[in-house]
Amino acid sequence: MDLQTLSALHKIFQEVQRQQDWRASLDTLFVSLRDSFVFDNTAIYLVDPLTKGLDVVYARAVGRGKTAEADAVWGESLANEVITKGEMILKEPKPGSGKTVRLDLAYLLAFPLYIGSKLNGALVFVRFGGPEYSELHIQTASLQAFWAAALIERRDLQGARAELDSVQRQMRLQDDFVSTISHELRTPLGFIKGYSTSLLREDTVWDEATQREFLTIIDEEADRLARLIEDMLESARLQSNTLQFKFSPVRIDALVRDVATRINMYQPRLKITFDFEPLPPFRGDGTRLAQVFENLFSNAIKYAPDSEISIGMRATADNIRITFTDKGEGIPEDYLPFIFERFYRVPGERTVAGTGLGLYICKQIIMAHHGNIWVESVLGEGVTFIIELPMEPML
Ligand code: ADP
Repeated sequence: MDLQTLSALHKIFQEVQRQQDWRASLDTLFVSLRDSFVFDNTAIYLVDPLTKGLDVVYARAVGRGKTAEADAVWGESLANEVITKGEMILKEPKPGSGKTVRLDLAYLLAFPLYIGSKLNGALVFVRFGGPEYSELHIQTASLQAFWAAALIERRDLQGARAELDSVQRQMRLQDDFVSTISHELRTPLGFIKGYSTSLLREDTVWDEATQREFLTIIDEEADRLARLIEDMLESARLQSNTLQFKFSPVRIDALVRDVATRINMYQPRLKITFDFEPLPPFRGDGTRLAQVFENLFSNAIKYAPDSEISIGMRATADNIRITFTDKGEGIPEDYLPFIFERFYRVPGERTVAGTGLGLYICKQIIMAHHGNIWVESVLGEGVTFIIELPMEPML
């Protein structure tokens, strides 16, 4: 190999590697070697691990007026043949076949793809109407096949790594959760035990006001414990898809106002403003949707104390769009992508009681309505939760 060819290859190699996306890498690979190897269409077929059938994972048409995807079936039987044989196949029309239409004269070249050392796919090229493949063409195409297999392997590895990262994060969250939850369970239990033991002491007589105070604490802490256990069970049911939803016509504006009124009963100083447009009828699970807003209120009270809350509601062409805004400290941008994950709590949030389940539960409920919930936040200025619920939730 001469120096010029080597440095040209080197450049191509760098260019292909530089692309983040494997399809873009493959595009670069095929385009940059067009000087040495011209084809009309190419397609990559991979064996589906479940069905064992062939999937077209990549197709490209550089030839005259062809669309790649629609045409990808042209190579399927050849791909099957290559995978069975495990070696390159070259198929050219026999001279004197009598065919004259260019598209009937398919010059086919196919290579097996070894991905992770397993014969898992095939790369097929076609030239309609020739010319025949020269030795240089075959060598170039073979190099591309080798390279394509490496790029697909890299794609698979990146996918596996992302999955592993997510599993590891989930495991870390579970670990944190165990310590959070034991703290969260012990605190109310400690109060209940402490105050009831005090009340039962035979050597002390408590006046009525003190007795009442102790009993109120016990009552509140028992409620807190019940809520916590309910959240844990709810999140487990959502995780295992065993939570039942009951859909019926809901007036969501009235529902949110009701929740706000209930919240104001024990948080009378909390200022809540509404900006509601008239809404069309909507089908949903009212109890579950109320739970979403209870969670959002409870978070705003915990993480944005003293802030006013404004709630907006309007209908777009096919959605009801609800915004729930506080003017608290906000959430740092880096943490925003994770706050709907099960058990996730923003680091440093340990002074405020919580389990990281609330927003996970909200998201699952909204998703059960085929809707979407997300968050926007500017640090120091507050947080807005946005909920979109489809008018026709396909139930
Ligand atoms: P929990 O409140 O039990 O920690 P959530 O799932 O309800 O769990 O919330 C996840 C995290 O999102 C919280 O730990 C908190 O850091 C952050 N967060 C939620 N709501 C707000 C808010 N209104 N303002 C600031 N941070 C919030």
